[in-house]
Amino acid sequence: MSDIFIKIAAGSICNLSPYTPGKPISELQRELNIDKIVKLASNENPLGPSPKAMAAIKTILSDSARYPDGNAFELKEALSEHINIPTSSITLGNGSDSIFTLLGQVFVKPGETVIASQYAFAAYKIAAATMGANFIETPARNWGYDLQAIEKAIDADTRLIFIANPNNPTGTWLDENQLQKFLGQISPDILVVLDEAYYEFMQQDPGYPDTLKLQQQFPNVIITRTFSKVYGLAALRVGYSITHPTIADLLNRVRLPFNVSTCGQMAAIAALSDNQHLQKTLDINSQGKAQLTSAMDKLKIDYLPVNGNFITINVDTEGNKIFKDLLTEGIIVRPLANYAMDSFLRISIGTAEENDMLIHGLQKVLCK
Ligand SMILES: *Cc1c(COP(=O)(O)O)cnc(C)c1O
Repeated sequence: MSDIFIKIAAGSICNLSPYTPGKPISELQRELNIDKIVKLASNENPLGPSPKAMAAIKTILSDSARYPDGNAFELKEALSEHINIPTSSITLGNGSDSIFTLLGQVFVKPGETVIASQYAFAAYKIAAATMGANFIETPARNWGYDLQAIEKAIDADTRLIFIANPNNPTGTWLDENQLQKFLGQISPDILVVLDEAYYEFMQQDPGYPDTLKLQQQFPNVIITRTFSKVYGLAALRVGYSITHPTIADLLNRVRLPFNVSTCGQMAAIAALSDNQHLQKTLDINSQGKAQLTSAMDKLKIDYLPVNGNFITINVDTEGNKIFKDLLTEGIIVRPLANYAMDSFLRISIGTAEENDMLIHGLQKVLCK
């Protein structure tokens, strides 16, 4: 009987593996029955949400019987002011990953092509499969994107190119010159998604592209950002895209009307207003980055470029085994076998105490 369902499902879905998320703390708690668990597996904010965001949610809980504002007027106004862009260029998503699917629904017809690099964030492949698109994975260079390889892969069927900047899980990123040159070669009817999930961590880095400026020159650029990472609101699922208003208008036609909850909207507005929490998060992250890189150096563990709020290390042995050994120590990291990076682990930068626990755990399970 179940064969029938497989048979009637879209071919592109049958060949797809589900996204593997970071292991939830509650799951490990059930399995091991230990209290002290550190999760450094999903690049979440170790400080939690802004206190202002938490306060904002509390005040609107009594409105829970009402549908959210489907147009998210106030959040769009707040973003518009914060980023200095018109509200007409903003599309809100239930997490920025849902924007990828919207883009697929609007622009990619079955048989057309979506391109992303080897080691690129896994959600792109899923968005492509949803539409029955061909998915082309171009070879990486030095763990990063090879823009020439992407250019070479483009043909008449190419509709969408995904670029995570920096890329998760490899931490590599492209500077403004590289992107500018690349975009100059691309036909204006091919959409280029610049996924800036870690934007706020990168903003101050010299050379980090001003993609709003690039978008003025290349209206086929789609910028996506999220409240899940630096703003610590991953559970509430709020992300957005900045696009040409016509693209936003098209996305809005397929977007489900209430795709961002009232809690998500209100928390996001409050989070945008809390500069102090943002700064604290950035500070803790730079300190954690220094702590973890120096510990890896001492342990002689190689790592990929550290950008955003995670470090991807090469444990030089089966990563999945080290992942499991760390679980028994109450530490959750992310194995990367699903990216064909079998000896690598991705570790989110935590608080000093969490990082310390990770370092000791690693030392113990690697017997260094
Ligand atoms: C975490 C992450 C996202 C997804 O963020 P959501 O807004 O929570 O869906 C998108 N892209 C990259 C590269 C990420 O690391």
